[in-house]
Formats: sequence, structure tokens, C-alpha cells
Amino acid sequence: MFKRKGEFKPFESKVWLASPTMHGEELKYVTEAYETNWMSTVGKNINEVEKIAAEKAGVKYAVSLSCCTAALHLCCKLAGERLYGKPAISHGALEGKRAFCSDMTFDATLNPVVYEGGIPVFIDTEADSWNMNPVALEKAFELYPEVKLVVSAELYGFPGRMDEIKRICGKHGALLIEDAAEAMGATIHGKQCGTFGDYSAVSYNGNKIITGSSGGCLLTNSIEDANKARKWSTQARENAAWYQHEELGYNYRMSNVIAGVVRGQYGYLEEHIAQKKAVYERYREGLKGLPVKMNPITEGTEPNYWLSALIIDEDAMCKQVRGEVDVCYRPEEGKSCPTEILEAISAINAEGRPIWKPMHMQPMYRMHEVVGRDGSLRCRTNAYIEGSVVDVGADIFARGVCLPSDNKMTAEEQDRIIEVIRACFE
Ligand SMILES: *Cc1c(COP(=O)(O)O)cnc(C)c1O
Repeated sequence: MFKRKGEFKPFESKVWLASPTMHGEELKYVTEAYETNWMSTVGKNINEVEKIAAEKAGVKYAVSLSCCTAALHLCCKLAGERLYGKPAISHGALEGKRAFCSDMTFDATLNPVVYEGGIPVFIDTEADSWNMNPVALEKAFELYPEVKLVVSAELYGFPGRMDEIKRICGKHGALLIEDAAEAMGATIHGKQCGTFGDYSAVSYNGNKIITGSSGGCLLTNSIEDANKARKWSTQARENAAWYQHEELGYNYRMSNVIAGVVRGQYGYLEEHIAQKKAVYERYREGLKGLPVKMNPITEGTEPNYWLSALIIDEDAMCKQVRGEVDVCYRPEEGKSCPTEILEAISAINAEGRPIWKPMHMQPMYRMHEVVGRDGSLRCRTNAYIEGSVVDVGADIFARGVCLPSDNKMTAEEQDRIIEVIRACFE
């Protein structure tokens, strides 16, 4: 149990990890949809979101969809058909094909590879950026030169070397799907995240930097692909008086009501980024002197600062053991661990979260391969030897914590959170 449990006053209303922040503008567009009765998956808000999303990112086309996971699914289908041709009706577009995927990310990044019958091979994480390691990706291409698809995400809105990953894909004739769900508005050498992939996706989920309550967009520079995705997302109806179908369809289109919320939020993207940046910098200042580091900022990038996170120095970790769904730790003077910090944060009615558990450690993907920066190809069974630096993802998972990063958190609230984190190391 947290060493100084009960000593800090809990917040009256919960401080969230990342919750929606509304401004009023959203209601105007939602009301407009209501009053004009465009209450379905057609309407002005949807068209406007597509226009704004494409403009903001700097791509030619955006397709408004029900969520980013749906966008990523259609990205995989587009990529698969481009690479391997149209599959038989009951087969996936990536059937039996390997794809190189981010390892330390949310599972929605790469589940769509599996929806299409593909086999994720995980690429280990770079300690300096917490994102896909380009060196490990190069090694993966040495092991599997036939692979033609890479699916890579930016973690917590702090981009790694997506530009380098794009270059490596080009060199090997592979397509890149960029999952920019967490990174909208972040840039790499001045270029917006969401523009690096042959196909990219952004999310308007309730906890993202801007939100529609749900929703997402597929981004591409190909008009044929944008049109295909739009058609697939509306049950793949052919141009006929009756329901005519030549290919498999989905019900993935964004609602015009949701689009109203998204449309109203876009004007506040920059404001939200500035607030998140202030949160990050406050933590960095407030945690100075502790044996921790904040999540890294890669040179040449400007994060959107969506989630602030910290990592505890190895020699300041107390003993912590995690099973599949449970955890225990032994409090120790001068040391701490993610579990203790999360308990301390939760005791004052604030929400933190462990770092996203790497995909190769997930039971459902435990038989899948993971490629390290040394070119080692492993399954989970021999993936992580405690103290090993080869499995970077497992190490960051063991020592890292996502901190309350809500943009409505006050400086006073954040100061109290910083204080309880400091107390963990006493
Ligand atoms: C949130 C998230 C998604 C899924 O987005 P939805 O819009 O909820 O489907 C995908 N990938 C990453 C990295 C995410 O954080």
C-alpha cells in the first residue's frame, strides 16, 4: 500500500486522464443537423469535417467514419487490395501475409490487420522515442524481405521517427499505414502527423485531443482510394435503383450529428495542444529531482502532448510483479513503482494508467513474433528477461506511468498530484 495513504485530501470531482472538453460551438452544428433533419450519415457536417480534416493534416482527401478503428480497417483493406489484388469474397485482403506493426500501442492499431487475415509481426520500441524503432524495422525487412506493409502509430502524441520509417518503407517497396489516432496536430520536421502514411487515420474518440464523442477519419492523397473507402463504409452499394452489391460492404460512416461535434471542436485543436503542453511542462518542472523522466520528445518533432507520462529510473524501482491481470509490489524507502504511483494518484480521486501494455505481451498475440533492434526474432515465451534492455517495450511498460493529463485540470490540482508522486519516493 502507498506509504502515505490518507495523508492527502482527495479532489471533490475526479481529475481524469483525458476527458472531452466542449466549447459550445459543437452544439451549434449539432442543432443545425437537428433542425434541418440531417440526422443520419449524410449531411453538411460530414462534408465539412472531411474538408477541415484534410486541410488541417495537409492531405488531399479525408473520409469521415464511425471511428478510427474503422478507418484503420479500411486502410488495411485498401493496402491489401493494392498489394495483393482483390481477395475472394470470404477471404481477407491480407490473408496469410505478415505485416510489421508497432508493439507499444493500443491494440486498435493492428487488430484491423487481423480483420483482413494478416499476421502482425511486432517491431520493438525505441527507448529514445517510445515509438517503433527504425533500426528494428530494418532488421525485420532483412528477416522477411517479402513483407510489404508496415502499420505504425505515434504514442501519446509524441512522434518518433515516422519520417525515417516512411523512408525505410519506400526503400523496401512497402506501404505505410500511419495510425495518428493520438497524434493529431503533432508534427515531424514541420509536417503534420497523419501525412506520413500511404494511408493514415485520426481519431475523435472521447479521450483524444479533440473529440466528436466518437468518430475518425481516413486520410489519403488518392481520390480513387478515398472514394473506395467512402463506398465500402456505406455498405458498398452500387449505383442502381435497388440495393446492388459487387463487393463486401461495412456500416462505417460517421453520423452527421457526431460530425457536428467534430466540426465544432476543430477550431480548438491548437488551444487544446497548448493546454496539454502546459500540463506536460508543469509535470517536468514539478518532478525535477526525482529519479524519473517524462516521456521523450524526439528531435525535430513537436508533440501534441496528448498524454503526459513518466518513467522511473531502473535503480529507483521497488519490487513490482505483474501477472496477466493482477499486480503486487513491495513499498520501499526512496523507491517506487508504477503501481504505487497509480494507487497514490487514485487515492486523491485522480486517474492515471499504466503504459499501454506491449502487443507481444498480450495473451492473444503471444505466439506472434517480435523483432528487436539487434535483429533477434522471438516469441513472448523468451521475450523478456528481467533487466534485459533488448525488449524495450516490456521495460517501458514495467517502469512507466500515464499521468492525469486532462486539459481542464487546474494548476492547483496538478500541484497536488505532483506532491503525491513525490511522496511515493520518500
Ligand atoms: C484511440 C486509438 C485508436 C482507436 O480509435 P477509435 O476512434 O476509438 O476507434 C487507435 N489507435 C490508437 C493508437 C488509439 O489511441
